[in-house]
Amino acid sequence: MAERTRYLLPEEAIPTSWYNVAADLPNPPAPVLHPGTHAPIGPQDLAPLFPMAIIAQEVSTERFIPIPEEVLAIYRLWRPTPLHRARRLEAALGLPERVRIFYKYEGVSPAGSHKPNTAVPQAYYAKQEGVKRIATETGAGQWGSSLALAGSFFDLEIKVYMVRISFAQKPYRRALMETWGAQCVASPSNDTNAGRAILAQDPDSNGSLGIAISEAVEDAATREDTKYALGSVLNHVLLHQTVIGQEALQQLEMAEAYPDVVIGCVGGGSNFAGISFPFVREKLAGKPVRIVAVEPAACPTLTRGVYAYDFGDTAQLTPLVKMHTLGHTFVPAGIHAGGLRYHGAAPLVSQLLDEGLIEATAVTQRPAFEAAVQFARTEGILPAPEASHAIRVAIDEALAAREAGEERTILFNLSGHGFFDLSAYDHYLSGEMQDYEHPQSAIEAALAGLPSIAD
Ligand SMILES: *Cc1c(COP(=O)(O)O)cnc(C)c1O
Repeated sequence: MAERTRYLLPEEAIPTSWYNVAADLPNPPAPVLHPGTHAPIGPQDLAPLFPMAIIAQEVSTERFIPIPEEVLAIYRLWRPTPLHRARRLEAALGLPERVRIFYKYEGVSPAGSHKPNTAVPQAYYAKQEGVKRIATETGAGQWGSSLALAGSFFDLEIKVYMVRISFAQKPYRRALMETWGAQCVASPSNDTNAGRAILAQDPDSNGSLGIAISEAVEDAATREDTKYALGSVLNHVLLHQTVIGQEALQQLEMAEAYPDVVIGCVGGGSNFAGISFPFVREKLAGKPVRIVAVEPAACPTLTRGVYAYDFGDTAQLTPLVKMHTLGHTFVPAGIHAGGLRYHGAAPLVSQLLDEGLIEATAVTQRPAFEAAVQFARTEGILPAPEASHAIRVAIDEALAAREAGEERTILFNLSGHGFFDLSAYDHYLSGEMQDYEHPQSAIEAALAGLPSIAD
């Protein structure tokens, strides 16, 4: 038989439960605190914002949580996603057979990324509880379009606050959201108090995810028929993404392979968690697998932020969570990986880093795009700029193993395609793209604004 390139599972192999890493953590997660009183909050405090089923998942310590049949029926539109062996990339890199690269491809979803894996259950649970409308924020537009898609499946009204710089750079994302029936405005907007306050200070604000979250949370908290949904960071979002890694485990078995290293890019941490948490479980059970989170040097949350309590948003409306953060006032440079520009990282990812179970590294955007172009020219798929950060590190891991004469099996998550990011490729190919590292002085200024929490 010819050499296998893709490892494909039948629909019956879609996982029927999500894997909850909280059940296996060596230490309990730090409590979530009320933004005003700093006391631990309970489920009732989150009830204005989230459906009860989502809140239950947020605090659950059950190891496996069943996926509702209605959600599985929609997952079957694109899942299981393929696992590829990157044979043509391996050949271009001159890798010996002992160094192998596999990637899980989440760009086959209708929205072109992993995000519908959580948008669909979030919309499903909202519908179950009688919600009519969901407000949310979006950075590069992938989350907004994924929730728009899920809203159309469950007949929910969706309002998206889109970070202004991305709104300007990615007009086709807005068209996609509107095609799926959502309403999309540039944030900061005039539709909320939080948006109007920012615009009064800075009418030309580029916006940030922190600002857009403030707007969406205010919208949901002030309307009876509306809930809020978040596309990353929170425990339930990471939980929903674990279908990725659970499928990958089955597919690697078909390939008679096991990864030495698992790699994912990190914005808020959800696609990284999706591919890696099932492997964290294996690592805790004794498998010697390395797990590497990759972030942009322009938004170095895990590598240069602090592990501390912070707000999830700029206007300080959200509860306080313990996470790696650059401070809630941090406004990153307008790099092209718009999905990687959040000031914090998921509490679960932050805790795993703090406990030494995962590693983190940062790359600048030109080396990331160089890897993306090499990938596109060998494997054919045009990667999302976010995912190109993972590709850069996968290639570097492979080259290091080749030089060291070691065996290495590498798995990375290709979180999405880049068809809506062609202006970013244009910018790279024309030679205009600059590398950018966030200056230490700006990081220190933003960290000075962290809330002080008595231990
Ligand atoms: C949103 C997005 C990311 C970053 O978000 P995470 O929650 O860290 O996964 C990465 N890749 C793609 C394609 C995205 O759409």
